[in-house]
Amino acid sequence: MTGTELLLRSRRVVTPDGTRAAAVAVAGGRITGVLPHEAPAGEGTRVVDYGDAALLPGLVDTHVHINDPGRTEWEGFATATRAAAAGGITTVLDMPLNSIPPTTNAAHLRVKRDTARAAGVHTDVGFWGGAIPGNTGELKALHEAGVFGFKCFLSPSGVTEFPELDPDQLAAALGEIAGFGGLLIVHAEDPATLTAAPPADGSRRYADFLASRPDAAETAAITRLIALAGRLDARVHVLHLSAAGALPLIAAARASGVRITAETCPHFLTLTAEEVPDGATEFKCCPPIRPAANQDLLWAALADGTLDCVVSDHSPCTADLKVPDFGAAWGGIASLQLGLPAVWTAARRRGHQLADVAHWMATAPARLAGLERKGAIAPGRDADFAVLDPEATFTVDPAALHHRNPVTAYAGRTLHGVVRATWLRGRLVAEDGAVTACAGRLIERGTA
Ligand SMILES: [Zn+2]
Repeated sequence: MTGTELLLRSRRVVTPDGTRAAAVAVAGGRITGVLPHEAPAGEGTRVVDYGDAALLPGLVDTHVHINDPGRTEWEGFATATRAAAAGGITTVLDMPLNSIPPTTNAAHLRVKRDTARAAGVHTDVGFWGGAIPGNTGELKALHEAGVFGFKCFLSPSGVTEFPELDPDQLAAALGEIAGFGGLLIVHAEDPATLTAAPPADGSRRYADFLASRPDAAETAAITRLIALAGRLDARVHVLHLSAAGALPLIAAARASGVRITAETCPHFLTLTAEEVPDGATEFKCCPPIRPAANQDLLWAALADGTLDCVVSDHSPCTADLKVPDFGAAWGGIASLQLGLPAVWTAARRRGHQLADVAHWMATAPARLAGLERKGAIAPGRDADFAVLDPEATFTVDPAALHHRNPVTAYAGRTLHGVVRATWLRGRLVAEDGAVTACAGRLIERGTA
């Protein structure tokens, strides 16, 4: 093919219309063709033959807490995107909270972008805005400045500078966002249900923590959100869905025309409440990891499409904040580099294919964020790839991960699926766990 700069061959290229042996042609950072496997390379074309390793679209992780600036000791743009690149992710969207300032107005967004630019990013990076009490008037300007949508909490977020919305504030924010065609993404736990539940303060027992964040908190909040989204004809997305009891509510809402989508996370799909040791707060997150029977229903909902995406909710902190007290410990699981192997390990056991994983972790999150050039191996898309050896295994050593603090709930687990290489817009950015280039860009809604 004339003008082809790069040709990647694999016996298992995961495309929107099937997984097959192919050669993917790249020029100018874009995919220009998906050709027969033996397609000849022109003179001067760089050829890389990955053999039986699978070529997947680069993963799109729309739920990452980079915490920079302000809590840079927890994570940062350079370290988070290194971990992402090493794990096969080529695009991350940063959450608006846990950094100081939070991304709640256009000036704060500029601070975030300047910080990211100064640090250097190894993947493409975009930003969510935040909807908090008092900033409804800032949302339109943030939208125009290129955020991909707005996150809010319905219960306390864990940090004082990012308060939750009460029902009236939620209605005002959602009405405003719907007015300009934006997207509201929601941490959906009902505060009254949480307040009524027994607190886990001082407890090392996971069962106590689970009792403090009951399924009913999620189902109550999602019920309320569905009613409001329907009334306002607004587009909403449920973040990190854990309680399977909410799945029929979402399916029914969608069937009746409510514009609602939902994501779940690798930890809800691969870890269970039953296996969390006493005091092991690296497993603490909100909403919580629930019992194995609940997990089976989440997998069924991915299979039937009730759940759209699987994204990390990578939410790290320093090791000292993971005290062995489920009430006091910081809630958040660090997993950015491990999401693909963790999900693939469980997916293959349940009879799913690589194409399913690519859909949940690349295509669907790209669609959620309106990233038209991301999330699929097809002509015209960005030449973003994850090369995965699906049969190879490795044991998770936290010290070998690139994120800032070597804490993870996956420590010591043996996982299937080794990421051999990651390509971003036609450039090799990671190979065998080492990051090889810093080629990420800051992206805006509607331009990527
Ligand atoms: Zn989160």
